[in-house]
Amino acid sequence: MVPVHISISNKRIDFLDNNSYTFAMNIIHLLILPCIVYGSTDTTWDYGALGPDMWAEAYPLCGNGMNQSPINIVTSCTVYKQFQEFNFSVGYNELLNFSLTNNGHTIIAEYGNGSVSKLLVSGGNLDEGMFELQNFHLHWGLNPRQGSEHTIDEKKYSGEAHFVHLNHVTSQIAVLGFLVEGVEHLENSAWTKYIDVASALKTTGNTTMFTANLTSLMNNRSNSDNFFRYNGSLTTPPCTEGIIWTVFKTPIQIRNSDLEMLRANLFAQDFREPQPKNMRTVYRSVFQQESSSRAQDYCCNTRKKRSLFSGAVLSYSSIKYYWAIIIFTYWFNGLF
Ligand SMILES: [Zn+2]
Repeated sequence: MVPVHISISNKRIDFLDNNSYTFAMNIIHLLILPCIVYGSTDTTWDYGALGPDMWAEAYPLCGNGMNQSPINIVTSCTVYKQFQEFNFSVGYNELLNFSLTNNGHTIIAEYGNGSVSKLLVSGGNLDEGMFELQNFHLHWGLNPRQGSEHTIDEKKYSGEAHFVHLNHVTSQIAVLGFLVEGVEHLENSAWTKYIDVASALKTTGNTTMFTANLTSLMNNRSNSDNFFRYNGSLTTPPCTEGIIWTVFKTPIQIRNSDLEMLRANLFAQDFREPQPKNMRTVYRSVFQQESSSRAQDYCCNTRKKRSLFSGAVLSYSSIKYYWAIIIFTYWFNGLF
């Protein structure tokens, strides 16, 4: 099979040809859309006994994928690139009804079917066409010093909000990620209202309605032109790759006491640690003189090494074993 090439720098995603591409994307769409649209209540994984270290048992890609998310973003290794502006449809500025559901892993907020206005994002070099919001949700940790999935120069934040979008034509998924800075005092926070409602959904399957203005939840999208971009994966099983990630540099703020309510009432934590970046390039949208673009340097890239002897340990016993094979091969071929 011709190698898959995924380019996040423009709209191109090449597979064998257009038909194969469409077929493959439809399969991917069918496999992962239920998780994204409806929220998975799958009990084969969690953030405890069946936590991220165990996911690969049932979902191999979580363990052997080369383009996994989240990652630690090393700012000095990012590459500056010019991006188009994001365009958000008017619905992002309106108070809209969302259904909140405890799916056993987090609280997932979905915009109602049959709603008058669609929530659409375009631009930002995402892909051609429109991306419709499928859900938004929050990740958090055991304490205010952890909880974000992405880290910036190894710095962990108190949480991370994900707004998951889908291009219905190409089946491309794009996630807008906002890091969360935990703060002691904050007035009139849209997230406080969200957490008040979400914290009551203590049992898997519990659901309720919630009215929200997405722009408020996105910190009024201030500095929305300052972000990082890379090619990654879902951060939950099945860890599907080929996701366009946008991680905004300016964090949103949530009160530490609100995050504590989530821990106390719902889940102690629900985040995945950064995964190997491997050879991927992380782009940044803002030119900074102090940041040298040295993404091609070896120090910026880590690669999982796989070789003939991958996983083999060159111990005394294994060296004996290799010699035995060589001697047997020579003997069998009459060379001795
Ligand atoms: Zn997420």
